[in-house]
Amino acid sequence: MDYLPADSRYKSMLYNRVGASGVRLPAISLGLWHNFGDVDVFQNGRTIARRAFDLGITHFDLANNYGPSPGSAEENFGALMRKDFHPFRDEMIISSKAGYLMWPGPYGEWGSRKYLVASCDQSLQRMGLKYVDIFYSHRFDPDTPLEETMGALDFIVRSGRALYAGISSYNPEQTARAAKILRELGTPCLIHQPKYNMFDRWIENGLTDTLKKEHMGCIVFSPLAQGLLTNKYLNGIPEDSRAARHTSLDPDSITHDKVDKVRKLNDIAKARRQSLAQMAVVWTLRDKVVTSSLIGASKVAHVEEAVAALNNLSFSAGESSAIEAALK
Ligand code: NDP
Repeated sequence: MDYLPADSRYKSMLYNRVGASGVRLPAISLGLWHNFGDVDVFQNGRTIARRAFDLGITHFDLANNYGPSPGSAEENFGALMRKDFHPFRDEMIISSKAGYLMWPGPYGEWGSRKYLVASCDQSLQRMGLKYVDIFYSHRFDPDTPLEETMGALDFIVRSGRALYAGISSYNPEQTARAAKILRELGTPCLIHQPKYNMFDRWIENGLTDTLKKEHMGCIVFSPLAQGLLTNKYLNGIPEDSRAARHTSLDPDSITHDKVDKVRKLNDIAKARRQSLAQMAVVWTLRDKVVTSSLIGASKVAHVEEAVAALNNLSFSAGESSAIEAALK
């Protein structure tokens, strides 16, 4: 059956401007790192993506290596575009990235022009797209001149493969250099994609200041610390969880001390009538430099819960200090 998105899709979502650019992103975006690969149930991913779009999530984030197997999330997303979203391409912001290992040999990872351009072409082919909206350098490459990596992003934009350029997980100094090179090339760096959640606050030590100075946007990944900042692991590791699948969330990292903190945070969330997942997502949006919180979801309910969190975005001084105390 043809997919008809909800008429109400733009009624309640919040759209934030990305730095000083002309484009806005939804306060909550959906990432396809997990749950959209060829090891997953296609129909589940399809239901999640449709519901996300129905709720005003216009931004879908991918990378060359998402799956598993690597590339399969882009292939499945391509199938979703063909089956469901093709008529709505102009309502969507689709991103991809290159930086991590994708194919064997010296040209299959890091930051050379050779790798980035070839990988972008492969991503477009897998997704069946003429262009992506944002193309990222997925990680800083210490062995390639930054001029070459940024030159490749500039070329990718100028050649029509992408509309905007972005960088991911670059430190403040690398970010400032990347922004300067891209500005001089005439393709401003639109956005940075760093990890940020209550357990990993590295961006507060200089990166957010740099982004403000450079007028760049920021989309933060893993706002739920891969599911840890929910009520999921309060009583052990459930079978249907990311930690149980032994993929990217190491079960050994879920220590008593962590769970103790999560329990305290859960109580604070309850007192503000939110689930912990909801509080964790909106917590990442406190600083206005953060344009969007980039969640993952294995169930439709995860997306619905995150979007409903936008009804309570503010933190009282008491709540903020209780959170700081719980995290100590
Ligand atoms: P999250 O921190 O949001 O974790 C998502 C996972 O948490 C879900 O898959 C689910 O896992 C669990 N979860 C979500 N909502 C709930 C809920 N309400 N209750 C209980 N459990 C919940 O984000 P991700 O780590 O998935 O990262 C999001 C996106 O960020 C990626 O898809 C990718 O696009 C991007 N990313 C970018 C990186 C980069 O280097 N640039 C690196 C990593 C991610 P479960 O299976 O346990 O149900």
